[in-house]
This record gives sequence, C-alpha cells and structure tokens, in this order.
Amino acid sequence: MRLVLFGPPGAGKGTQAKRLAEGHSLVHLSTGDLFRAAIKAQTPLGQDADRYIRDGRLVPDEVTNGLVAEKLDEIGHTDFVLDGYPRTIPQAEWLMNHLAEQDAPLSAVISLVVPEEDIVRRLSRRRTDKETGAIYHLDFNPPPEDVPADRLLHRSDDHPEAIQTRLGEYHRETQPLETFFRERSRFVEIDGTGALDEVQGRIGEALAEVRGLGGV
Ligand code: AMP
Repeated sequence: MRLVLFGPPGAGKGTQAKRLAEGHSLVHLSTGDLFRAAIKAQTPLGQDADRYIRDGRLVPDEVTNGLVAEKLDEIGHTDFVLDGYPRTIPQAEWLMNHLAEQDAPLSAVISLVVPEEDIVRRLSRRRTDKETGAIYHLDFNPPPEDVPADRLLHRSDDHPEAIQTRLGEYHRETQPLETFFRERSRFVEIDGTGALDEVQGRIGEALAEVRGLGGV
C-alpha cells in the first residue's frame, strides 16, 4: 500500500504511522523525523532546515521534495506511509506527478480529524524519547516509569509561540490539500479523538475497505 497520513500537527500522525508501518509492513517516512535526524547529524540539509523548524515554519518545497525523492527512490516507491508530507500544494503536485511517472499511485489518503482545542493540549504536553523515538503525552499516554526524565524531549517547536505558527502554516498551506486530494485520490476521514487503540482500529477498518475496493 502507498498511503499518506494527513492532518494538523498533533493529530497523532506520527504515533499512528508507526503503528501502521508495523502492522502492514510499510516503510514509515516522516519528513519531520528525517529533518530532525539531519539536524542532529549536522548535515548541510539539517543546517538549512533547522532555522525553519525551530520557528515552526515550513521548510521550502524544493528542499523537502528533494529529500522525499531520495527516500522514495531508496525504497522503490512501494509499501510506504508518508507522515507530515505533503504539506503544501506544490509538494502534493510534485508527489502525484512523481508517483504517476513511477506507475505507483497512492492507495489512499487517511485524514485524522481532531478539534483545535485538543491539538494545542496535545502538543504542549507531548514528549519524545530521544533514544527510541517513542511519542508520549504526559497525561494521556505517559512514559513508562523506567524511562529516565532526561531522555524525554520537549520538542523546541512544541512551545506556545511555535505551536501558533505551525497551526497558522497548517491552515494557510496544508488544509487546502484536502480539496486537492479529494479530487485526485481516495480521501478517508477518521475521527482522531479518543484512545490510541481506538483510532488505530478505525484506521484498520478504513484500510480493509480500501483493500476491498482494490486500492492496494
Ligand atoms: P513534524 O514532525 O511533522 O511536526 O514536522 C516538524 C517540522 O518539520 C515542521 O513544523 C516543519 O518545520 C518541518 N517539516 C516537516 N515536514 C515538512 C514538509 N512536508 N514541508 C515543510 N516542512 C516540513
């Protein structure tokens, strides 16, 4: 399957994409994770991306598309779940053209729907285990007690100012993709509220339907 997981920051894309990847043997491609890894490794790409990410702004399209092209080539354009990409119309157009050239169309776009008040609460209380990449929420999905506090990162862009910038970018640049995808792919909306297992279950049901319709 070739999937896009779509939704605002904090909708649970990262967590659900990891589960999807494990459950369906897909490669999880998160542009956010790739950028953070590049920043940590201090590569030229990381240094370029760092100043945008810190402020909650989007990294320019050419840089982001270039990174995705490299990764899709590596995995052979099949069995992937894209998380946090595409985020702009030019990125989406590039992706659709690229996949069409490879004769590898998207199976579906899964859109996680979460109300805005939940999003701010989720992001400001989110913590990431810097060793395993596991994502927690201090109230709703707390880290196990044996994970030392200094391993838990509060992302620099999960602070109030950057959160507001990211939400602004989402409304301006990313939300219009909904219409784009409805016209060009199978666009499935999933209620992203509630327990992680419940959301995962809803996604599983939707994918069973996509498969039944021959969308694999
Ligand atoms: P995420 O982990 O998906 O929330 O991404 C963290 C940050 O990385 C975003 O706020 C952007 O600054 C940058 N980023 C991730 N994916 C993209 C993308 N598709 N286009 C532009 N910037 C991105």
